[in-house]
Amino acid sequence: MRQRLVLSILAGFLACCPALAGTPADLVITDARIYTADSEHHMAEAMAVAKGRILYVGDEAGVQAFIGPKTKHESAGGRLVLPGLVDAHSHPTQGIYPLDVCDLKNEAVTLEKIAEIVSGCIKRYHVKDGEWLLVEQWNFGAMTSETPGLTVRAALDKVSRTVPIELLGNDYHHGGYNSAALALAKNSKGHRVGLSKATLQGEFAAYRKLVGVDAVGEPNGTANEDARELMTGKGFFRPATFKVVMKDPKRTADTLSADGITAVQDGAVTPDTLPLYDALERSGHLNMRVSMALLFQPEDYRRADGTIDYAKLTVETDKIRAKYAHNPKIKADTIKIFVDGVLEADPLAVPPTLGESPSLRPYLQPIFGRDAEGNATLKGYVDTGSALCEEVRAHPEAYESDAAAHKFMAEQGYHPGQCAISSGKFMHDRQLILDYAKYMHDQGYTLHFHAIGNAAVRAALDALEGARAGKPADRPDTIVHLQMVDPEDMKRLGRDHVYMGYTYSWFYADKAYDLSVVPFIDKVPDDSYESLHNPANEYERTGYPAKSTKQAGGILIAGSDAPVAVRDPQPFVNIAMGITRALPGQKPLNIEEALTIEDLLDAYTRNGAEALGRGGEFGSLEPGKSADFIVLDQDVLELARAGQPEKIAATKVLATWFQGRQVYKAKAGN
Ligand SMILES: [Zn+2]
Repeated sequence: MRQRLVLSILAGFLACCPALAGTPADLVITDARIYTADSEHHMAEAMAVAKGRILYVGDEAGVQAFIGPKTKHESAGGRLVLPGLVDAHSHPTQGIYPLDVCDLKNEAVTLEKIAEIVSGCIKRYHVKDGEWLLVEQWNFGAMTSETPGLTVRAALDKVSRTVPIELLGNDYHHGGYNSAALALAKNSKGHRVGLSKATLQGEFAAYRKLVGVDAVGEPNGTANEDARELMTGKGFFRPATFKVVMKDPKRTADTLSADGITAVQDGAVTPDTLPLYDALERSGHLNMRVSMALLFQPEDYRRADGTIDYAKLTVETDKIRAKYAHNPKIKADTIKIFVDGVLEADPLAVPPTLGESPSLRPYLQPIFGRDAEGNATLKGYVDTGSALCEEVRAHPEAYESDAAAHKFMAEQGYHPGQCAISSGKFMHDRQLILDYAKYMHDQGYTLHFHAIGNAAVRAALDALEGARAGKPADRPDTIVHLQMVDPEDMKRLGRDHVYMGYTYSWFYADKAYDLSVVPFIDKVPDDSYESLHNPANEYERTGYPAKSTKQAGGILIAGSDAPVAVRDPQPFVNIAMGITRALPGQKPLNIEEALTIEDLLDAYTRNGAEALGRGGEFGSLEPGKSADFIVLDQDVLELARAGQPEKIAATKVLATWFQGRQVYKAKAGN
């Protein structure tokens, strides 16, 4: 078998790169277990590299022919060698390593503790009255409080009434605010009117689904998605964080190299974020290839008559695309489209804030209580079809006063707001998503959709098919996240050859998290694992259907989404959880959808390179391709075969080579 491999590779080499034939190598790697990630998953022992490209991959005997007097020789010490990893969806500009900013570090802590940390930040960063304090990596889903009913707003008001505070959810879609921040909300005319019960019933009525309120209807300090922009101004991009990242651009590149990542798709590039990549390139530290998914807001290009001036928007994207058109490492020919936000609801808000992602069926309205520690417990469901709920929906004003809401809650056991029927919302008007995708595809851009809810995945597929207009796929259009996929759309993902950027470390069962999603989708009798993960549940059947969608013909790629959820891109945690679909030591989320180690290695290598439109250049260790490879401290293939995939999470990269040059070496003892 190995002999045949060598012969076929040598033949391939001679055919592909005659200019390199007979050249002595700059570098040979021997005593390696090389996972080539070629189409047949061949293993090899040795590799020869010249001018940054692979000359030879095969057995030890064959590599000898490439050794000249100046050839550098490295032994891999019997270790596993993989192609450099491709992170096909991440946000390196937002800080993928511990930043010197006010940071809650994703810890599951009480609201009281958060207030204490935030208070320390105001002193540490000398935040003055009226200046914003941005607090990052807020684990909003795992938050509890010692005081029953304490709201985010009340807790943060105790910290300051003069410094506007924003807690940025670790998903980058949720936010928490104090009164000083809520008071800054501006209306469409630019007047500062504040976010309050009154404005939520008036000019901000469109944001009601996105703003958490207390029992009397006043904002409780939580606001999600674009409701946050009422207070903070615009967008996904946080200039304050980027400023910190720009203090040391090299650290971003070094973090990726230390993780074994040699190619990334930045999932949200705006003109503001280009300086990071430009600085890395100028200083010679761009040790990776970058694909930029350009994020623009079509609504910013709306004409007076309400239509969108796509041509004007394209002038901006074309400028960026042209800037990098001849850049060997950077490409900017992809357009990012946020189809939706996120699926998580807030069970502890009164009434619970529902998930924002569009759902094919209306969200259910579960009723929650709290246990002794303040954690949510499932008590039952509101019958939104009841005559009472119909009456509430017909006359909402009758239930809006404090007294009326309290009386209703005392009598019925749930807030009248829970009579609402909602199927979530799209990030943009649905037709706009379709039009924008079609226009940009016609301009030659690859499409990169963020889609979480099952109606969002469907809209992304509709947009993709509309853009292709019946023609076969001619570029690697991508849908990332895919938290819920209707079985009909699983087939379409395959038929349309979609590159599917799952974030594998999100595949797990965890009660606090599950309660923010499952009871809103499935009517479950209680909050035990068995009920929340009943194989008949829609969420269990269609949540992160990695294996089914692969079997249907979709192409698995990997996107860490860093720093979302965790700052580090942690590729080996992702790989482990794609197999286990569980947190360490915990029960899984639908193990039927578990992937194999080969699936995940392909996702992180050859498929990822294809998704970046550069499968011919890198992504596998084959003659002619870029010499991008990594050496690992443990054999992830063996761990998977030995039934210990959870151990893969601890894998360390010992060395990273990019274009035949070593760009990372672990310190001894690491
Ligand atoms: Zn993202």
